[in-house]
Amino acid sequence: MLIIFDLDDTLVDTSICITPRKLEEALQAMIREGLTVDNFDSALRSLLEFDAAPGASSPSALEAFLSQHGYSKIFLPVGLAKLREELSPDHEPALAVPHAFEMLHAVKNRHNLAIVTMGSPSLQYSKLKKAGIDPAFFSKIVIIEEKNKKPSYQAIIEEARLPSQEVVVCGDRVAVDLVPAKELCCHTVHMARGRGRALRESALSSGIADYAIEDWQDFPTLIERINTLGHS
Ligand SMILES: [Mg+2]
Repeated sequence: MLIIFDLDDTLVDTSICITPRKLEEALQAMIREGLTVDNFDSALRSLLEFDAAPGASSPSALEAFLSQHGYSKIFLPVGLAKLREELSPDHEPALAVPHAFEMLHAVKNRHNLAIVTMGSPSLQYSKLKKAGIDPAFFSKIVIIEEKNKKPSYQAIIEEARLPSQEVVVCGDRVAVDLVPAKELCCHTVHMARGRGRALRESALSSGIADYAIEDWQDFPTLIERINTLGHS
């Protein structure tokens, strides 16, 4: 089978161990450029609250933070550029989602693995490196700027020459990761972590997610079950 993974909050616990530090660095960068905040800690807390809002992303949190507090938009590009930079060398190791290593080792020889992720290439590769996930496990790593994963899914599936019943797409964001996969008739697995945690039940009941998991422990068994279903 072909298994296509999202990266952030699917293989790497981005929300927990990367985003807060990145937002802090973005705030520091905007302050260096002249943004004046009364108190750094409360400004950071506010920024993190915007980031935690349903459907938010770190860029949208920066934008909301500036506009809601009446700060000038001229600082936004500075903050956004900081978010896109690769992780700083002194960044603590990023955590892989629990059992990701065991899962990847268990499935890599039997299945074709790929990643489709949004962001800047240097940042996304640095997350894999900090999390200790070997890029060589994946036959394709596609890093896109736009919020539309469907063309990338299509291209990888066509290249693998597999019917969509033999493709599994895993991700935490239902609309971004799973809806386009369902449109292509792939199997879908919702990683109910990070920003996607609250969407678990609706993803399942709407049929957009065929399965939901919270870590990778049971995934190798699940993939063999899906594989068997496809051949029965
Ligand atoms: Mg994600």
